[in-house]
Amino acid sequence: MVVELVSVGTELLLGNIVNTNTQFLAEQCALLGLSMYHQSVVGDNEERLAEVIRTALGRSDVVILTGGLGPTEDDLTKEVCAQVMGFDLKEDAHTKKRLEEYFKNSIYKNITDNNWKQVMVPEGAIVLDNDNGTAPGLILEKEGKAAVLLPGPPGELIPLFKNQVFPYLKKLQPEVIRSQMVKICGVGESQVEDRLLDLIDQQTNPTIATYAKTGEVHLRVTAHAKSEEEAKRLVKPVVKEIKSRFGDYVYSTKEEESLEMAVVRLLQKHELTVTTAESCTGGLLAGRIVNVPGASDVFREGFITYSNKAKRKYLDVSKSTLKKYGAVSEQTAREMAVGGVFAADCDVCVAVTGIAGPEGGTEDKPVGLVYIATCMKEKVTVKKYQFKGNREKVREMAVVRALDLLRRSILGNY
Ligand code: ATP
Ligand code: MG
Repeated sequence: MVVELVSVGTELLLGNIVNTNTQFLAEQCALLGLSMYHQSVVGDNEERLAEVIRTALGRSDVVILTGGLGPTEDDLTKEVCAQVMGFDLKEDAHTKKRLEEYFKNSIYKNITDNNWKQVMVPEGAIVLDNDNGTAPGLILEKEGKAAVLLPGPPGELIPLFKNQVFPYLKKLQPEVIRSQMVKICGVGESQVEDRLLDLIDQQTNPTIATYAKTGEVHLRVTAHAKSEEEAKRLVKPVVKEIKSRFGDYVYSTKEEESLEMAVVRLLQKHELTVTTAESCTGGLLAGRIVNVPGASDVFREGFITYSNKAKRKYLDVSKSTLKKYGAVSEQTAREMAVGGVFAADCDVCVAVTGIAGPEGGTEDKPVGLVYIATCMKEKVTVKKYQFKGNREKVREMAVVRALDLLRRSILGNY
């Protein structure tokens, strides 16, 4: 079943308000397993609104319209929708009674004339009582299609949707949708897709969607089924296959687990303590680790050693190394990692030194050149990276790669 969203309101077109209703509704529809191919925003204009409704009803089974149900002149959704679908408006005694009750209990005792338009309901429509406002929601059904009209204020729309529209849609579409994430770090997006091409090509149910994140690729495997158990059963073998193809590059299959969470979990599991020795990332790496609840189990201190002097003072990087190879070099990264382990008296150190730019690059050492090292149980690993992008991007990429190298060092797989 195909559902479509139409948000009505000139203020949305002007950017005066953020369209949070669409986000909420889209998420809910996905949860219901409904297909959604179109969302649109239209201003408070009769002709354009009629055109959008006509198009939407032409291509989708259910159209959910939000906004423009209120008492004012510019509120047109109900009138236009009824007209497009060929319904006459009729006074609804039940809604009238509710409106009178509402005003009796409100600080505004007088019902202004324009309020009466809210008691006019398209003939045969399902009326959805609105406990948080005056305009009821409405469902208009015709020839196998339905229009669901909801008031714009989220405080009215959300409860109306949850209590009355969600069950209505669930009855129309008894299928559920379930998905699972597979999070990959250390393989580029195009490579990921290439290695999954056969699976992606033949996909119908489940489907595999790829999302490129900074330094990571997330895959969402989604299945439709009659029951939750069946959907999960469909998802499982596909996730297993992806995991077997990418091995340790898969750091998590949990939606809510970030790379740093996976790293902290791994450190906890192996009962290891970690420290950071950062030059160009200036604390970003330590910050990501400390963001994880429970980080105190594994992290006690970190070093921000931006200058050469600091690298010598805190990490005991030798003067001759810095002089001979420079601060951004394999040798310095190595000494930073080793120095960090000693200075913090811990099991692992991950060190980062690089040129974030925009200045400071040379032909030999261009902007984006970053060395990342780990020292763990006397084993030191150094990797050289050449990142593209601005200062922010280079630093962000360096943090992701550092977390990943740390993860691989713990797994013993570099
Ligand atoms: P009212 O009875 O309040 O006039 P309405 O159904 O006519 O309700 P609108 O007039 O279109 O709805 O919008 C009323 C308010 O609802 C807006 O000022 C805004 O605060 C909120 N709103 C409307 N549409 C959205 C949306 N898509 N996302 C978030 N908020 C919205
Ligand atoms: Mg309004």
